[in-house]
Amino acid sequence: MTLLALATLAGCARAPSPLTPAWRGSIGTPNRGVLVEGAELRRDADGLRWLRGNDRHWGLPRFTAAIERAAARVARERPGSRLTVGDLSAATGGGPLSGHLSHRSGLDADLLLYVTTLGGAPVDSPGFLRFDVEREWLLVRALMEDPQARVQWIFVSDVVQALLLEWATARGDSPEIVRRAQSVMHQPHPGGVHDDHIHVRTSCSTDEMVAGCDPIGPRRPWLATDATPPPDGDRELALALLRPLVGDPAK
Ligand SMILES: [Zn+2]
Repeated sequence: MTLLALATLAGCARAPSPLTPAWRGSIGTPNRGVLVEGAELRRDADGLRWLRGNDRHWGLPRFTAAIERAAARVARERPGSRLTVGDLSAATGGGPLSGHLSHRSGLDADLLLYVTTLGGAPVDSPGFLRFDVEREWLLVRALMEDPQARVQWIFVSDVVQALLLEWATARGDSPEIVRRAQSVMHQPHPGGVHDDHIHVRTSCSTDEMVAGCDPIGPRRPWLATDATPPPDGDRELALALLRPLVGDPAK
């Protein structure tokens, strides 16, 4: 028996097959899924760097693009910033990825916390220094505001979560964005304390569900508007829904 046949028997039963030719993208669940036609997060993208030079930087193309946009936005607002990116998924996902319970279907990304020296100068993570709540909130907010990021969860320690929400509230950020961020941030059990990174999980869109993505966990009500493109008459309304929330003091 070939290795490929063994692998098929061993648990890739959810990969596309002649019986399910339409399955593509993120298939199955983050804990038991695979990734087909993923995109690799660009190593030379603006405002980010890989933590390790390995083949674990693959995800759904809209998700890797959203991470690149968020990192670029932080770098625009705080020049010189670089987000250090840990593991996403392997090129085809599937199988256990050492050190992770999920990360198998292109929906997960570990993003190291922004840190500074004790004197306040921005430096690349890791190398434990001082948590930079300001840039971290810029990143979280950029992800929450990007309709393509479709953030379902941000797994992070309670301490980091408290600091971020306190900061966002104190600087007078949009209460709606703060409320959304609060609902997606969660310290996981089990899965580690997440005190050196945030683990971002994107949620399947309607089209992605048709293509094989199994929705698990809560449905975020503010993500429900993606289902079908609106008719032309509703274009204004659609644009309004995709625009950043009014009252954003950073605009
Ligand atoms: Zn993770």
